[in-house]
Amino acid sequence: MSAPDFTVHRLNSMKIANFFLVVNDGELTLIDVGSKDEIENIRRKFDEAGHSLDQLKRIIPTHCHPDHIGSLAALKQATGAQVLAHEAEAPFITQEARLPSARGAAWLLHALTEPLFRPEPCPVDQTLKHGDTIEGTGLTVIHMPGHSPGSICLYHREARALFTGDALINIFGKMGGPFPPFYWETQRARRSLSRLKELDVETLYFSHGETIREGANKKIRSLVEFMNKEG
Ligand SMILES: [Zn+2]
Ligand SMILES: [Zn+2]
Repeated sequence: MSAPDFTVHRLNSMKIANFFLVVNDGELTLIDVGSKDEIENIRRKFDEAGHSLDQLKRIIPTHCHPDHIGSLAALKQATGAQVLAHEAEAPFITQEARLPSARGAAWLLHALTEPLFRPEPCPVDQTLKHGDTIEGTGLTVIHMPGHSPGSICLYHREARALFTGDALINIFGKMGGPFPPFYWETQRARRSLSRLKELDVETLYFSHGETIREGANKKIRSLVEFMNKEG
């Protein structure tokens, strides 16, 4: 909502996860697609924004968890949109590989719930690497391993906007970094956060929590400092 050619529409899935329609120079991209059965919700939001579903060019999942890609296969099928994912995450989206489960106590939770929510496998058309700028979006890929192996944030330099995926969350009344048990490797996720302090950010769009529009740079820097102290 900052730069003239860049608009962000927030969608919400089951009051759990946000996902985003971004319009960059008239090109439509979805960042994540929410849980299963989101297609009507997505169609409505496109209508409200004055667009139609068949204008959707691409979908970029921030990672493979079911609250982020539950409707991915169905939406790709309905629209023919391209799916772009980090190369370390793509095998979990196509389901050629199984996501390694979190360590420790979370393992049992994961083993019990994962089959219930497992999304349909979905083809990935293009794999992404850290530092790639995605054509037609203005978005740069920031690889944030830790929450999952190929988790990413997406950064729009001109708009100074950062889409955090699950690398950062903004719930319980404050912005926070990775905490167990929802992380594949918590320490690694904490180390990944250092990558964000190099960016100039005005707006933080969270998958979980309210958008932050003020003081984003300062918040990121003090969180990284805190995480470094925690080790
Ligand atoms: Zn997640
Ligand atoms: Zn999530």
